[in-house]
Amino acid sequence: MANTFLIDDERLIVVDPGSELNVHLLCNYVQRFLHRLPTDIDLIVLTHLHPDHTAGVEALRSVCQAPVAASLAIQHLALEEQQIGKVVPRISHLAGQLLPGPLHHFDLFPPAYTQQIQLIDLWLEDIAGLPSHPDWRVIASPGHTPESLCLYNAFTYELLCGDTVITLSGGAPLLRGGSNRHELEETLRVLRSLRVYYLYPGHGRPILGWHPLSNADVEW
Ligand SMILES: [Zn+2]
Repeated sequence: MANTFLIDDERLIVVDPGSELNVHLLCNYVQRFLHRLPTDIDLIVLTHLHPDHTAGVEALRSVCQAPVAASLAIQHLALEEQQIGKVVPRISHLAGQLLPGPLHHFDLFPPAYTQQIQLIDLWLEDIAGLPSHPDWRVIASPGHTPESLCLYNAFTYELLCGDTVITLSGGAPLLRGGSNRHELEETLRVLRSLRVYYLYPGHGRPILGWHPLSNADVEW
């Protein structure tokens, strides 16, 4: 499923815990191969809120007690969702009357951000360094989702990019369009302006090479 990354920066950072199986494998790796304790993890970062990247958050938090950090944009998205929610029940009620009986209780607009906001302890702003790990910078990268972010280390030329960039089985980098083409094009422009030699995608294999985003495809 989704890739989970572990950054060894004296203390450990986990990026995208993924599934509970990922969390189990990660904790085994930390203890058996690194001979460290899960409590050496001092930060959990979510690149975005898709469930294949976040399902194991509570399982990981219960073993390491580390705070969970994600994009500040989620606060605005949750607020927007709540404002839409005040209008939508009336539409849902009307739709409910028009739809056949079994669909009356179908949730047409599940409040994804409003629920998931409770997972998050720390809010990450564009360009800011990660708490206690200032070499790792947050790069807001809306496109795949509005709250997507990448993490960039300008000293090691590494970019962790969540689902903003994935790699296909042949190893080619691909940006998958979300709902906002302009945002994704702007994100690609920003990411291409960074010096990157190590690109770690949310799905697929890492790409090691000179400027791996120069030949990235965009799929709409
Ligand atoms: Zn995703």
